[in-house]
Amino acid sequence: MKTNTIITRPVAEMLTHEGLYGQYGGRYVPPVLDPALSRVASIFDELASNELFIEKLVEYLQQYTGRPSPLYFAQRLSEKYGCKFFLKREDLNHTGAHKINNTMGQILLAKHGNYKEIVAETGAGQHGVATATVAAMFGLKCKIFMGAVDVERQQLNVNRMKLLGAEVVTTEMGTGTLKDAVDAALMYFIEHPDSYYLLGSQVGPDPYPRIVGYFQSVIGYEARQQILQQNGKLPDAVVACIGGGSNAIGIFSAFLNDLEVQLLGGEGGGNCVPGKTAATLSFGKPAIFQGTHSYCLQDENNEPCSSYSIAAGLDYPGISPQHSFLKDSGRASYFPISDMEAVEAFKILSKTEGIIPAIESSHAIALAIKQFSGSGKSILINLSGRGDKDVDRLEIF
Ligand SMILES: *Cc1c(COP(=O)(O)O)cnc(C)c1O
Repeated sequence: MKTNTIITRPVAEMLTHEGLYGQYGGRYVPPVLDPALSRVASIFDELASNELFIEKLVEYLQQYTGRPSPLYFAQRLSEKYGCKFFLKREDLNHTGAHKINNTMGQILLAKHGNYKEIVAETGAGQHGVATATVAAMFGLKCKIFMGAVDVERQQLNVNRMKLLGAEVVTTEMGTGTLKDAVDAALMYFIEHPDSYYLLGSQVGPDPYPRIVGYFQSVIGYEARQQILQQNGKLPDAVVACIGGGSNAIGIFSAFLNDLEVQLLGGEGGGNCVPGKTAATLSFGKPAIFQGTHSYCLQDENNEPCSSYSIAAGLDYPGISPQHSFLKDSGRASYFPISDMEAVEAFKILSKTEGIIPAIESSHAIALAIKQFSGSGKSILINLSGRGDKDVDRLEIF
């Protein structure tokens, strides 16, 4: 059967009761923010099970984003490491990563709710670009908040957002990075009831972890059908990289009930020591951070601290509450992957398969090789994005 017979649609099972994943998740926000979040939640609850809405979403995902993304059996990589690696090619989506699955879904929520303006945060600029893209497509005004330090080091994405018609607002608060951009965007959202806050990963207060998990679940939904067709059975393991956790939950969600399928997340380990890492589940502790209860990187005084990873998209001290739940329950396992291991995998995939992965996605490749080399097992890897953006920055030759 050809890949394009694969049906594309999101199917996330709502594991949660009002945004709770065991003890994690929930909505920890100042009372002024509560009505705005409840409004977003009620639009989502109305549309998530509406067949007409899903049909419309699927049409856009197919015609604009380019879904279904292919599943590719990586022959040379597999021969090299003695197992069967299948790559879910989210790098082939419009704008080059999985982020557009979520921005496309959420812009439809905003349209339905008659919001007049889209507001979003961005760190490296990838979510900002994916948001500015769908805002341009639907003719909505768009404001992207970005830390001053990030604006400085991500000029290409700043220029892309401007070209797409978005206004990039530089915030000088705090350390001038992603965490501060989130605070600034939330502030704007509170003060402007006509604005829709389009959050970029599976983090923050309810309803966002549910919403983002739902729109990203299309990845696993397709991949499960594809690997059954191409390999005749379920994979032995599914591997993804973890920043906030959205691409990982997207591919994990279709396999949560297949207990024989191992689920593995590769975190941005950085130097793999406290203070120099973004591996939140490996080095953090549960806390309330940016509206949700979840694991979080903390300093010796138990205050949230800043993170470090070579991969801008993984460089965040918080994490999805659903992954916190999956870790504690033992259903999924998480491992820090160092900067060096990720750069090595970046080169290996480029040279053996002719695919330049995002440095974020390279963490998943590195973890898959590390864990399953020589095992002969079938491994499904989520290739969350393409790596053109990283070529200039990395010492690769
Ligand atoms: C943003 C990004 C990530 C990390 O975000 P998640 O929410 O953890 O998926 C991973 N890969 C790429 C290519 C990204 O752009």
